[in-house]
Amino acid sequence: QAKEAGRGAFRFYTEAMSRAAQDRLHLDTRLRRALERGEFALHYQPQIDMASGRIIGAEALIRWLDPEEGMVSPARFIPVAEESGLIVPIGEWVLRTACAQAQAWQAAGHELSIAVNLSARQLQHADMAIRLAELFREFGLGPGRLELELTESMLAGDHAQTEARLQALKALGVELSIDDFGTGYSSLAYLKRFPIDVLKIDQSFVRDIPQDRNDMEIAATIIAMAHTLKLRVIAEGVETPEQHAFLKERGCDAWQGYLRSRPVPADEFEQRFLLCSDAVGAAPSPRSGL
Ligand code: C2E
Ligand code: MG
Ligand code: MG
Ligand code: MG
Repeated sequence: QAKEAGRGAFRFYTEAMSRAAQDRLHLDTRLRRALERGEFALHYQPQIDMASGRIIGAEALIRWLDPEEGMVSPARFIPVAEESGLIVPIGEWVLRTACAQAQAWQAAGHELSIAVNLSARQLQHADMAIRLAELFREFGLGPGRLELELTESMLAGDHAQTEARLQALKALGVELSIDDFGTGYSSLAYLKRFPIDVLKIDQSFVRDIPQDRNDMEIAATIIAMAHTLKLRVIAEGVETPEQHAFLKERGCDAWQGYLRSRPVPADEFEQRFLLCSDAVGAAPSPRSGL
């Protein structure tokens, strides 16, 4: 009797598993097709200098406009693409599109950098730096136009090789930042070993400011530590004036979040953030700091 029930449970389990596997396979097929059909787009979220309130950069975030489902979140499809390896051609598309955008903004005289999220698989590719060098040449990009966002987990493992790859990227004039800082398992030793420029305070430490004293301490400690190590700090997920005020008071260098804007298409970014009084080089607006 128990054995029967057990077998039933097992069968149910494997059926659920294979359904999940099928869903993945199906999603992977659709992603492949989406890439061919040009259904991906990059949206850009402004990064704002805390002291001056000026726009200093834009984070490029991928969007998939699926004709059947509408907008599909990267949180749903990036992990699938990472598992199947499709992240490599998708990531290549992201880099190329971001470089083309950087070229357009550079040509228009806007002094901002574009931050691109990199996945582990991309960094593992030995010719990543060579590929980027080709893109920079093709689009005539000067140094400081591109920033790459890495995650802590990407910095675990073969240190000598990782270090060599990051140094090669730095040599191209690329800035390196650590995304979702404080959420990974890795030791902090990598901060002195690798050529990192920026720490991005994860939004989970920002969300509950000012209710959660622990999160406030963590955010303040990350800022202090970053500055001791001569790194810049940017806060993610800033949604309220209270969060903004706290981070500014603690010396955070820059921020991004819904308080200023959600990620938006490039033309809207240009209209709202580059062709107005907030534009780089323009006098600070009355909303300075926001
Ligand atoms: P991330 O790089 O940590 O990006 C921050 C996420 O927080 C974005 O979600 C952004 O839209 C969202 N966000 C920004 N401001 C706020 C805020 O004030 N409040 C809240 N609640 N959220 C905010 P998104 O665009 O859905 O991207 C999710 C993740 O997907 C990214 O996290 C990144 O890990 C990944 N991703 C996005 N684009 C790419 C890409 O081109 N390549 C790779 N490899 N990963 C990407
Ligand atoms: Mg990011
Ligand atoms: Mg993040
Ligand atoms: Mg992330």
